[in-house]
Amino acid sequence: MVIAIKDNINIKDEITTCGSKILGEFKSPYNATVVTKLKTEDALIIGKTNLDEFAMGSSNENSAFGPVKNPHNPEMVPGGSSGGSAVAVATGCADIALGSDTGGSVRQPASFTGTVGLKPSYGRLSRYGLVAFASSLDQIGIFGNFTQDTAFVLNAIAGHDVLDSTSADITVPDYINQKNSSVTGLKIGLPKQYFADGLDPEIKSRIVQITDRLKEKGAELVEIDLATAEYAIAIYYIIATAEASSNLSRFDGVHYGMRIDEGTGLTDMYEKTRSEGFGEEVQRRILLGTYVLSAGYYDAYYKKAQQVRRLLKNDFDTAFKKCDVILSPTTPTTAFKIGEKSDDPLSMYLQDIYTVSANLAGICGISIPAGMHSNRMPFGLQLQARAFNEQALFDLGTFIEKL
Ligand code: GLN
Repeated sequence: MVIAIKDNINIKDEITTCGSKILGEFKSPYNATVVTKLKTEDALIIGKTNLDEFAMGSSNENSAFGPVKNPHNPEMVPGGSSGGSAVAVATGCADIALGSDTGGSVRQPASFTGTVGLKPSYGRLSRYGLVAFASSLDQIGIFGNFTQDTAFVLNAIAGHDVLDSTSADITVPDYINQKNSSVTGLKIGLPKQYFADGLDPEIKSRIVQITDRLKEKGAELVEIDLATAEYAIAIYYIIATAEASSNLSRFDGVHYGMRIDEGTGLTDMYEKTRSEGFGEEVQRRILLGTYVLSAGYYDAYYKKAQQVRRLLKNDFDTAFKKCDVILSPTTPTTAFKIGEKSDDPLSMYLQDIYTVSANLAGICGISIPAGMHSNRMPFGLQLQARAFNEQALFDLGTFIEKL
């Protein structure tokens, strides 16, 4: 398979930029575990793909190397932050591309480009060699044209890794040969909060049409309640920025890449290098994250966010007692115009309203193409299953594709 790799995943002796100026010409001295595993399986790795700087964004406009465009209409964004990887697959440049998904960065661009995007469960595969953005949320994800392609590649790259203490020591099933090709008796959960205000009516009616078809085929539809999901974006932007401010402190002009050294001493060098090297969105997040971790605000923001994160996870645990898979839209709209949301970070953050919860709860999710909008842009539907039950996503995803 011809495979492209998001440029926040290390390939030995190749430049890793993370879409940022701050890494300069940094060359990785080692391979990410997923890259080692792909090479062992004789994959052809053809290149690195553009991304929002340090994977922060939903549009791929935040890269120091310029925006990625959507092949369905080049005035539109491809989604982000793994937009380059989505487009590599959507255009046929690669069979498969790896991305990273911290709050939706594989599933949202998959929805916008008409591709399949899988976010495995937290710990399903090794993050060793993925440049950390928010360590408790980050997962490497897989883009392909069909669900089975992503299952095939997950088989090759999943598993425990002694180099990543957060990778899970859980057996990886054979996703290809264990498949179940019937939905009879399958309980599909529909979160009532995900079909409410803000969802494009055409996306909504298409998803309802698909669930009706699944019911005809023998699946049982159950309404589920993710009451805490309303706070998901708020929780995410506290926890993700807190972790990012800590992770990004290593880019200081000393350890890696570029340095601006024309000032009066060490502090001046740090300040100039980081002000010049990081883009606006990354600086905004470092400021937010530093603030929510500061002595006076830690309890009010960071600790509170962690507590509500647990409530959200409890909502999912309760939901999965009533259903096997949760089905919803992936994104509230189709792709938007380049520049349209650049001055409005909050409306950009809302792009991930249906996707961030999976990262906060550590469960797995996939976006598969659901149809074409009358505006001639594709959109996806999202399936989510309990942690380490990727098989359920592959089975239902493949069934829906055939349907
Ligand atoms: N859009 C979200 C953000 O900007 C998610 C990014 C991601 O999943 N890497 O943080």
